[in-house]
Amino acid sequence: MANIKRKVVLVGAGMVGMSFAYAALNQSICDELVLIDLNRERAIGEAMDLNHGLAFSNSSMKIYAGDYSDCSDADIVVICAGVNQKPGETRLQLLQRNAKVFEAIVPRVVSFGFDGIFLVATNPVDIMTRVTYELSGFNAAKVIGTGTTLDSARLRYLLGDYFEVDPRNIHAYVIGEHGDSEFVPWSQAILGVKPVYDMLRDNSAQYKMDDLKKMSNDVRTAAYEIIKAKGATYYGIGMAICKIVRAIFHNENSIYTTSVRLRGEYGLRKDVFIGNPCIINSGGANRVLELNLIGSELDQFKKSYNILDESFHSMQE
Ligand code: NAD
Repeated sequence: MANIKRKVVLVGAGMVGMSFAYAALNQSICDELVLIDLNRERAIGEAMDLNHGLAFSNSSMKIYAGDYSDCSDADIVVICAGVNQKPGETRLQLLQRNAKVFEAIVPRVVSFGFDGIFLVATNPVDIMTRVTYELSGFNAAKVIGTGTTLDSARLRYLLGDYFEVDPRNIHAYVIGEHGDSEFVPWSQAILGVKPVYDMLRDNSAQYKMDDLKKMSNDVRTAAYEIIKAKGATYYGIGMAICKIVRAIFHNENSIYTTSVRLRGEYGLRKDVFIGNPCIINSGGANRVLELNLIGSELDQFKKSYNILDESFHSMQE
């Protein structure tokens, strides 16, 4: 990276953006954090509030409300800006409005010579990541969406509880659209070194496939549950963004189910952004891992892929 200081510009200082910012401050994730929001006063207030916590943190991060010219020497631009669904509004209408929001953001970021990595969290995240890719003209490796990173974390938490195993030792992923067509390829789920399928086979009285199916459904509907209970979800995704930013800054080669542009994997065309395990390092979405999907898993992935492709094209009609 060109900078010695690690600089992040956050566009969208709402609940998700500020959950990321708060986690970033506590984890000392970067040296400079710039907040941009349509509501400038909000960005100023949020920067003040975070700065007042600096004395209690281990960080000497520079935090301020800025503008798009601050993107010129940034390493990462995180986009959490968006509009909320209005009563009676369809998903497609929301999509079109958020695409307009991105038309007001991405070209401005690029116009100031930004040459780093875009990280998108705004929903529907797979489509908005593709929109960012199209608007920026960047290499696909430098445009990443949070994808199903949060869903995979939710799954690992539930599996850890069920099998009484530390979630950090569970390698299981949710892939596809971050949304209703996402799914768990159970053939790829492993507890440490033991496949989940083997756990079921060897302990059939204790562990059941039906329980796992319920778990994947619970992951899929988790956001609805949280929104019903408290209006929005933000802490989990804020921490997920933080992890991905860290993987970029530390050149970690960490695997996350980010939303990435397929490069011919699964025999599919190359233009759709979709949640799939990907190796993240300082170059961005470095390598997409093609899984050995079995049975109906490949069909489920293709179904999700088609939904995302159709949504993207219907938005443009
Ligand atoms: P929010 O309403 O609290 O914040 C959105 C912010 O975007 C507001 O501060 C608004 O002023 C700002 N904004 C709107 N238009 C802008 C523009 N043109 N330029 C700059 N700023 C602009 O919403 P939130 O709860 O923070 O959610 C943000 C997004 O994150 C939503 O799309 C939400 O669905 C999504 N989200 C994604 C995940 C995930 O897993 N990817 C999880 C939770 C939420």
